[in-house]
Formats: sequence, structure tokens, C-alpha cells
Amino acid sequence: MIKFVDVNLEYEKNHKAIDNLKLNVNDNEFLVIIGPSGCGKSSMVKMLAGLIKQTSGNIYIDDKLIDNIPSYNRGISFMQQNAKLYPHLSVFKNISLPLEMKKLDKNTIKLKVEEIAEMLSIKPYLTRMPKELSGGEYQRVNLARTLILDNDIVIFDEPLSSLDTNLKVDLRYDIKNLHKTFKHTTIYITHDQVEAMSLADRIVLMNEGKIVQIGTPLELYENPINTFSASFLSKMNYIKKDNYILGFRPSDVSLDGDILVKVIDKEIIGDKLNVYGTLDGEKIEFITDIHEVIGEEVKIKINKKYYFDVESKNRKEID
Ligand code: ADP
Ligand code: MG
Repeated sequence: MIKFVDVNLEYEKNHKAIDNLKLNVNDNEFLVIIGPSGCGKSSMVKMLAGLIKQTSGNIYIDDKLIDNIPSYNRGISFMQQNAKLYPHLSVFKNISLPLEMKKLDKNTIKLKVEEIAEMLSIKPYLTRMPKELSGGEYQRVNLARTLILDNDIVIFDEPLSSLDTNLKVDLRYDIKNLHKTFKHTTIYITHDQVEAMSLADRIVLMNEGKIVQIGTPLELYENPINTFSASFLSKMNYIKKDNYILGFRPSDVSLDGDILVKVIDKEIIGDKLNVYGTLDGEKIEFITDIHEVIGEEVKIKINKKYYFDVESKNRKEID
């Protein structure tokens, strides 16, 4: 188990990039860290990997304090954000380098490289140079050289953010399967909600150096603790009432109710219809499977309601 205990990080005095972080990462789990740009995601894993040192607090792996253990002895593989391959080395050499540094014999290295290359569908490219690879192939090589050492802990910092949608989906699927095979304790950073929801055992949602909420994808979707969490992982509509804010998800609406909504636009998404409308002067969005929303007004029912405090924006109960 990895443990962050009251960890703080200040790059500049009196500005906390990481603010009193407490977090346990379980063995073999796939933990996704998500949050807006600049919220401290990369800083957090750089401390774990030993690339930067926290200002205060402690980090443990299996109850062993690692703060003074050098990066290369922590048993962690780390694919950094925007990681570059060595441009003057072949794909094979790029992948084998970590094994060569460990002085493994040539045959073992060849077998291991071919094995991981096979798993990532890059075997035909082993003799190529990095500049001869497409974006997707390049990231596959990056993943291969990260996984080659078979360390128990693997960190990926936004490995797919440079790729377009179709490639992202393919690689996401492969990453999920690699985790099923190797069962490494995996920390995966992204700012992509779909990636987080589809890969994570648990999601850690961060903002401004702090953890906002931790839970399974479903827990965060169904039970967000505040409006930030509700909106970060999926769409939530908000209607201001006198002493609370009413929230509802676009998918929690049906057309058999008595709340009058003026339809202002609609778009077909697959076999569903995304409808935009106004309710109490607020722009709202909901999903229906009826393609013809007839007329200017529809009557909706909100099947699941969330209530938030006007000031704190935290969830609250209404009687
Ligand atoms: P994220 O990965 O979530 O985008 P980072 O961990 O890279 O966020 O950065 C968190 C905060 O720390 C940001 O405000 C960023 O500007 C600041 N920061 C990151 N690296 C440094 C650095 N080397 N020196 C000073 N400030 C930094
Ligand atoms: Mg980052």
C-alpha cells in the first residue's frame, strides 16, 4: 500500500501546490487522479517517484518510509507527462535501455522486449527510429518502456492526452487489459472524464492542491459531494431556488412530468436526442430517446434530484 500522510508541497513560500494530502493507494488497484490543469496532479506523483521532495509530511510504501530513498530504488515505473523517446535510438533500444542498465543478458533482454512489444502491438516497429512512428505508435513504445521493468508500482501522467479520439479509445482498452494481466498498482493521471470513468477502480478528484472527493466512478457520478464534483465528471443542470440549488443530470429526465420547459435547441446523438431548453431562466440540457420533441414547450419530470447549499455549494438534504 502507498500512503501519503499530511503531505504539503510549496514551490514558492506560502503557496501550497499540494495542501495537506492524505491518501492511501491499495495494492493492485487502478487509481485515476483527475482535476483541472494546475491542480497538483503531476506534483503529487513526482513526489511519490522521488523526482521532487515534499516540503512536509511523509510518503510510505508498504509501511516503509521512502522519503530518503533515491528515485531509482523505489520500485516505481513512471511515464512522465509529455515523455520523449531517445530520438537517436531505435524502438528496440528505447525499450531495452532500462534492462541494459540492470545488466541483464542479451537473450533475456530480447525475449522481454519482444514479449512486451507483442502485447502492445508494436513488434513490427522494433527496428524503426522514433521519428518513423505515428503518434499512437510512439505512445505505445512509451508504454512498453515504462512497463518493461515490471515494477510493482506504475505511474502514467496523461499518457493519452496528445492523441485523437479513436486512438485514445484503442490505447485505453489496451491499458486496461495490461493492468488485468500485470496487476501493477497503477496511478493514472488524466483530465479526461471519460478516461477516468472507464479505467478507474477509484477516482481521486483534485482541485487547487486538495482532494475534493475519492470514490468509485459510480459513487462520484451518483453521489457528488459538491457542485465541483458533480460537474467535473459529468454534466449537471442547476436551478437556483430561494435557499438551495437544485441539480439534475441530463439522463435523469423523462417527458411524463409537469415541469414546463421551453425547448431552444436539439441535437441527435446516436439514437438519443440531446435537448436544450430553459427552465426558471436557466439553460438546461436533457437526454430523451424520443426524436421528435414537438412544439416549443415540453413537460418534463426530474427523476433524481440533488440539492446544494447556495453558499458552500456542498450537497445538502432538503425536507
Ligand atoms: P497539474 O499536473 O495538475 O497540471 P502541477 O502539479 O504540474 O499540476 O502544478 C501544480 C501547481 O504547481 C501549478 O500551480 C504549477 O504552476 C505549480 N508548479 C509546478 N511545477 C512547478 C515548478 N517547478 N516551480 C514552481 N511552480 C510549479
Ligand atoms: Mg500535469
